[in-house]
Amino acid sequence: VDRNRGETEFHQSVWEVFESIGPVLDRHPEYADRKVIERLCEPERQIIFRVPWEDDNGEVHINRGFRVEFNSALGPYKGGLRFHPSVYQGIVKFLGFEQVFKNAVTGLPIGGGKGGSDFDPKGRSEREIMRFCQSFMTELHRHLGEYTDVPAGDTGVGGREIGFLFGQYKRITNRYESGVLTGKSLAYGGAQVRTEATGYGCAYFVEEMLAVRGDSLEGKNVVVSGSGNVAIYAIEKTHQLGGTVVACSDSNGYVHDENGIDVELVKQLKEVERVRLAEYAERRPGAKYVSGRSVWEVPCQVAMPSATQNELDGDAAAMLVRGGCVAIGEGANMPTTPEGVRVFQEAGVAFGPGKAANAGGVATSALEMQQNASRDSWGFDFTESRLREIMQDVHARCHRTAEEYGMPGNYVAGANIHGFVHVADAMLGQGLI
Ligand code: NDP
Repeated sequence: VDRNRGETEFHQSVWEVFESIGPVLDRHPEYADRKVIERLCEPERQIIFRVPWEDDNGEVHINRGFRVEFNSALGPYKGGLRFHPSVYQGIVKFLGFEQVFKNAVTGLPIGGGKGGSDFDPKGRSEREIMRFCQSFMTELHRHLGEYTDVPAGDTGVGGREIGFLFGQYKRITNRYESGVLTGKSLAYGGAQVRTEATGYGCAYFVEEMLAVRGDSLEGKNVVVSGSGNVAIYAIEKTHQLGGTVVACSDSNGYVHDENGIDVELVKQLKEVERVRLAEYAERRPGAKYVSGRSVWEVPCQVAMPSATQNELDGDAAAMLVRGGCVAIGEGANMPTTPEGVRVFQEAGVAFGPGKAANAGGVATSALEMQQNASRDSWGFDFTESRLREIMQDVHARCHRTAEEYGMPGNYVAGANIHGFVHVADAMLGQGLI
């Protein structure tokens, strides 16, 4: 703790993983003997850099850029870039740490990393965003490569930003290295379904958890927090699977629409016009926007927290349980506090942690890397069927591992143990790395 002082989110994520793996260490003393845990907690490399840029009025701004290359035992570092004013080392490290285990649970050959900046894209013009991305990549490019480190998007970084980053990488390196970034536009090496993958995957994961209990999303009322990339496609797939999403949110409040959220309207507002979610209620009869309150006060049978870390605490979890919630799929990374997780597990709610439930995004990024490496491009339906299979496999691995270790139905333990064992074995096999 002393060594990583003040990195509270990182401590939380480390605690959450190592709390689960006691039974593994009992069976495998070699992990402790070879200090695998200590090695896993120390990123292989951490890069922090200055990002100077000029706004439209000629004023100079200095942001801080980060890339934490956490673990490459299974493949090149892989994980998104986040642009949000809250970004600092503790957030990047928690996200990178989670990513190592998540990527392992997908079964695909990808290591774990994460990055970003404390740059706030809100209210910035497209030209300002482009200048920022170009400056960010001017430093970051020397650390990347399709066999080294392959970033993608995350909060505040979507297809537009990936395009600006890719253009600058290509310009500086004079290499058309498609596989150096994922989440690219379909016009230059992007994969079908990558945009939809995290949200779709989360809905598939919930469907799998419900199927184990002889249930499904059909006819269920669902609440999804956030209204960004993950939330939008979690809503779309939930509707396709027969559920009704009655509320979604942003950082100012939430929209309640008992007739079911009109996902095309949310896409228009957030992806095309880039305006606030409050506009939704202005344009949709019967819907209301509730400012300054938590979306978790809307009763539902299924909840998919898809905005940010620690957005669902113990009180919110208790409120959801009282309202009849039976399943949670974490679309975001670590959105539920440890107290919230405890409340859900004690109430017997099927709880799908982000490491498993939102792994569809990075898994489809790995499919994008496969297509780039073979200079191929797959169709939408084929790629979506791969995503669905991958999510079924992720679910099966977590479910089976939890049973093997005497904790049936505990997907937190299942994901942590499976991911840990996979990475630990690879590290041991590669010597003292
Ligand atoms: P976006 O930037 O597209 O959307 C984020 C959404 O969350 C927005 O609606 C935003 O509202 C809301 N939000 C962000 N910060 C806060 C906050 N502090 N309080 C309340 N609401 C907030 O990001 P993504 O959808 O890509 O990512 C969402 C989550 O999913 C993150 O935890 C991310 O790490 C995780 N994730 C994303 C993946 C991906 O493929 N994109 C893959 C796996 C996980 P507002 O506009 O008001 O800020």
